[in-house]
Amino acid sequence: MIVLEDVRKTYPGGVTALDGVCLTVAPGELAAIVGPSGSGKSTMLHVVGTLDRPSAGRVAVDGYDVAGLSDRGLSALRAARIGFVFQQFHLAAGVPALDNVADGLLYRGVARTERRRRAAAALARVGLSHRLDHEPHELSGGERQRVAIARAVVGDPPLLLADEPTGNLDSASGAGVMELLHDLHRGGTTVVIITHDREIAAGLPRQVHMRDGRIVADEVTP
Ligand code: ADP
Repeated sequence: MIVLEDVRKTYPGGVTALDGVCLTVAPGELAAIVGPSGSGKSTMLHVVGTLDRPSAGRVAVDGYDVAGLSDRGLSALRAARIGFVFQQFHLAAGVPALDNVADGLLYRGVARTERRRRAAAALARVGLSHRLDHEPHELSGGERQRVAIARAVVGDPPLLLADEPTGNLDSASGAGVMELLHDLHRGGTTVVIITHDREIAAGLPRQVHMRDGRIVADEVTP
């Protein structure tokens, strides 16, 4: 699902955020990315998510070599194959949950009625059938993140990338969000999660440790 070969990323100004990263994630894996702040976790997730191109090295996602795709091709790959969940939810303010989720299908060429039907199904999957008309400010943090997860998976992407998905949540809401991510993994989705939370990381089958732009350990929980 993910292949990184000697990937480097240097930002303008000279910061080397990724310093020769090699990583393979097989279809159906559930992995944590851990490491201190500034170690390159988000940069790696952005490169894997094709939001950013590497400065050097090879990146392949779901069998597609990123270097061989135009920006337009990358957008299409992202829209069809990758779901994103962020710490800050990134929901549209003033927009009901149903439409926030339905908009996740805007770039998939799905008609509006069908988009809304699938959005309602995705919200049911995250336990929010009773909140379809609620706007983000009318939802709790945990509910907002569940809406964001519904939006990320409404198009059934094979790959889900999450950057600190529980970072803004109390522990009960965070546990609910983690349970959902485990459910998606059990359903066959490949899930990669950046987390600061040692307990969460320890509960995942694989932990990739980063430091100074490199992978320093890659552990599989027996
Ligand atoms: P982490 O997610 O582990 O906290 P990041 O990937 O965000 O680490 O950052 C890795 C390094 O790259 C840090 O030193 C950070 O300051 C730097 N960095 C991140 N994004 C940018 C950017 N857009 N421009 C310049 N430097 C950046």
